[in-house]
Amino acid sequence: MSSPRKFHAVRGVRDILPPDTSLWNWFEATARDVLETYNFREIRVPVLEETELFARSVGAETDIVSKEMYTFTDRDETAISLRPEATASVVRAYIEHGMQMRPGLVKLYYAGPMFRRERPQKGRYRQFYQIGAEVLGSTDHPAIDAELIEMLTVLLERCKLDNWTLLINSIGDANCRPQYVQKLREALAGVKSQLCGDCQRRSETNPLRVLDCKVEADQVIINRLPQIAENLCEPCREHFAELRRQLDLRSIPYQVTPRLVRGLDYYMRTTFEITSPHLGAQNALAGGGRYDSLPEMLGGPAVKGIGFALGEDRFIEVIQSAGKIDATRPLDAFIVWMGAGAYPAAARLARRLRQQGLCVELPAEEPKLRKALSLAERLGARFAVIIGENEVREGAFAVKRLADAEQRKLAEADVAAFVKTTAPVAPRTGAQASQT
Ligand SMILES: [Zn+2]
Ligand SMILES: [Zn+2]
Repeated sequence: MSSPRKFHAVRGVRDILPPDTSLWNWFEATARDVLETYNFREIRVPVLEETELFARSVGAETDIVSKEMYTFTDRDETAISLRPEATASVVRAYIEHGMQMRPGLVKLYYAGPMFRRERPQKGRYRQFYQIGAEVLGSTDHPAIDAELIEMLTVLLERCKLDNWTLLINSIGDANCRPQYVQKLREALAGVKSQLCGDCQRRSETNPLRVLDCKVEADQVIINRLPQIAENLCEPCREHFAELRRQLDLRSIPYQVTPRLVRGLDYYMRTTFEITSPHLGAQNALAGGGRYDSLPEMLGGPAVKGIGFALGEDRFIEVIQSAGKIDATRPLDAFIVWMGAGAYPAAARLARRLRQQGLCVELPAEEPKLRKALSLAERLGARFAVIIGENEVREGAFAVKRLADAEQRKLAEADVAAFVKTTAPVAPRTGAQASQT
């Protein structure tokens, strides 16, 4: 008889294991905290949407919609897709629930998995995680754009990341972009044959995306193409100038990057990216921009919108390599009990310590002392509490600090306070298990 088949995670997706999950949880809690101080509130949108929603918003011609979505036909024949991003869902929900009736700007954030069937490569996953924020309302004042960017820089600060660059650009609006795209199309017609295959295809389907090309040999040619900055209409030029003033008054450094375009069709005017040199060519930690026409494109009111999404997988990678955040939660106490008569006292102590918020491990079966202490050490326990039948009779437990083997006898009622207030001897290393 052959042995049963072993299963693996589907290609391109992965498990995230402890202790890495501690850092993920820390990061998500920190992001929520920062976003809520800017008066953003969480929205939870489904992982499933009608395929048509993404075709209409992200754009049927984009790689995301044309090649990368996980799509299936539901039993009622509706085409359904796993969300490749969440802005379309947030705007759909905003319209569906009439959220434009709410007072002031509607400021929403989301966190969760997105799905794109990209070519598997290092640091890219087909199920990846994003945290994003959206501002919807009647005004498109650049102060909103700048404050959104400021919020991201505050999050970077909280993650103790300082080696990042903010890139900004304006990609025009419905008034000036079509003429620019036409100009670009004409310029591309002459040089298209010298560009890479992707650029040749994009020259027809989505000429703006040619500006995004990273192929080395294409750069000289692309740098000579007409630039959007010189083709903005007056209101777009003024909006972009005011964005730069708003960033200056907040002392946020930026680089104007004329070739910065977003991959999705609904973006207009402000676009931005935060990059980290640690990430190589795929170096964007976060990106976003304005999408003033999206709500109307989806049958909603004429409100303006701006948002960003950050890649959690990449943030975690960069935080780990910077090594300044230790989110691991130590095992505070490992209880070693000896003799059946000691178990009830051990169970009572474990519960008492846990009520105090301490992390405690209590072996289910009576351990051998030496083995138990060695296991406690390998688990990284700060203290071992040793309870034998003698200790129960005396009403005092042996509490051993594992880092230096210093030991003292404490009454049951005093153990929690002692474990809580005694700092570990050596600082715990901040090293996280590296992701493979
Ligand atoms: Zn190219
Ligand atoms: Zn314009």
